[in-house]
Amino acid sequence: MNESAPRPPTRKPVRMCVRCQRVTDEPVVVAEVHQGSGPGWNVYACPECAPRFPPVPDALDLLGDGRRRHEGRAD
Ligand SMILES: [Zn+2]
Repeated sequence: MNESAPRPPTRKPVRMCVRCQRVTDEPVVVAEVHQGSGPGWNVYACPECAPRFPPVPDALDLLGDGRRRHEGRAD
């Protein structure tokens, strides 16, 4: 008789701002991180910090840019 179901998502999910580490109930997605396997995740910032982020479509694209180049020239 225990209701072990997880809490239903609230209307305003709170997220921690990746920049100022402040919890905000109005998170703004500033980056999307994609993994080769498995689901990716979003990077959130508070509305105050969000405008300070440059438009980065994929953070891993920047990190793996050099690597990807090498892989492209395997031979
Ligand atoms: Zn912030």
